[in-house]
Amino acid sequence: MPVITDVNVKDVKSYENVKGMIDSVGGILGLSEKKIEFLKTPEKEIKAHITIKRESTQDIETFISYIILHRSPRKEPFKGGIRFHPSVTRDLIRILATEMTLKCWLLGLPFGGAKSGIVCGPNSLTQKELEALTKGFVNEARRDLGPFIYVPAPDMGSGKNNMLWIWDQFNTFIPDHDNKAVVTGKPPEFGGCRVREEATGRGLCIVQDMVLDALGIRKNAENTTIVVQGFGNVGSHYAKLAFNEGFKIIAVSDVNGAIYNRHGLDIPRLLNYVKENNTLIDFQGSENISSHELFSFPCDILAPCAVENALNDSNADAIKAKIILEGANAPTTPRADEIFKEKNIVVVPDILANAGGVTVSYFEWSKNTGQSITMQHDDAVIKELERYLQIATLATLDKSDELKVSLRKAAYILAIERIKDTYDMVGWTSYP
Ligand code: NAD
Repeated sequence: MPVITDVNVKDVKSYENVKGMIDSVGGILGLSEKKIEFLKTPEKEIKAHITIKRESTQDIETFISYIILHRSPRKEPFKGGIRFHPSVTRDLIRILATEMTLKCWLLGLPFGGAKSGIVCGPNSLTQKELEALTKGFVNEARRDLGPFIYVPAPDMGSGKNNMLWIWDQFNTFIPDHDNKAVVTGKPPEFGGCRVREEATGRGLCIVQDMVLDALGIRKNAENTTIVVQGFGNVGSHYAKLAFNEGFKIIAVSDVNGAIYNRHGLDIPRLLNYVKENNTLIDFQGSENISSHELFSFPCDILAPCAVENALNDSNADAIKAKIILEGANAPTTPRADEIFKEKNIVVVPDILANAGGVTVSYFEWSKNTGQSITMQHDDAVIKELERYLQIATLATLDKSDELKVSLRKAAYILAIERIKDTYDMVGWTSYP
């Protein structure tokens, strides 16, 4: 049984949080209704049907894919992950693409925001089928992909294998070219950054450290308790790095269930256990718990690192964390956000908290396009990642303090103000 699903959410979905925030910040910045609508509307949407042959049945099967290119005020390449998940819809990909624009502009990365997705259950596909699906995606999308057009990266359900397949298939259309920069999140042997795989989790730790200091609630790491929802790329690397820093991870969940140990879970051992068993249930030295319990433990930090709408009106009242660190994109519904405000829970917004992934993707892309030679070494990448995230976190904390607004609103103000100023310079129209 899944621990939570996003289908039974009764209050409005987290998409409305993004749209509502753009409305509110657009108003603060004096934008007209038409310009606010412009910022909520993507530049381009591409829907395709990808047909592959199933190994099991030898019959064909067709899957739907979307690419949504949101906005790129300076006509820079569009950047954003590709999601392989049954819950992919056009609305979801739109909102994730919108968030990517805000994230890139908050961090000062030279990209517009995009996202793509394929409606599929990757766990029910064989490796061969996944390869065919990924390469089929490239065939359908070849005109909208490219190092200076749209550059995908891993997201839920995709990883470095998918990135290699995208590159490989793209090469068939533009042979005799170095096309490495068509995709980021590649294995290091193929031009990727070793740090990319853990970058989002590492970014969460960097931002978390600054927020703990700024709020004056820094204690000894071993007395700081953390609950993590989701143990995939983001959740597992975040848990591992926080564990290495000495923090106490008391509960963790994945799609199969959740586990708890009030003295702290042994995360390196848990990682091995999950590798061997494909689940964290029944991990020795922990007790299995329900999703409601996962959310209701008193803790310092709750990090949703799984799906959108995870924190909603069915569980927000029960949450007793001091800080919510949004590892996932759009995990909080508007109603949950209100409840957290009433309860003085600090929410560190996704567009800041989980920006480590796209930041290292930018380093990888720069290296692949020959713009940066200093990004070859892990230490240099980590240092530069810290620098980017620290600048954005400090700016967000300062803006929140100056205007007495939430961290989410402060981050949106910073990003949208930069986007607005740029459109004011280059023009808001498609043709002058
Ligand atoms: P992933 O596929 O590697 O892992 C997802 C994890 O969530 C898995 O452990 C899965 O079991 C768990 N999960 C899925 N459905 C669940 C449910 N209903 N309840 C509890 N757990 C559930 O995905 P990821 O790359 O770690 O991405 C997770 C989130 O982080 C997504 O919102 C994604 O957009 C966001 N994100 C990812 C990156 C990245 O670099 N991968 C960067 C920024 C943001």
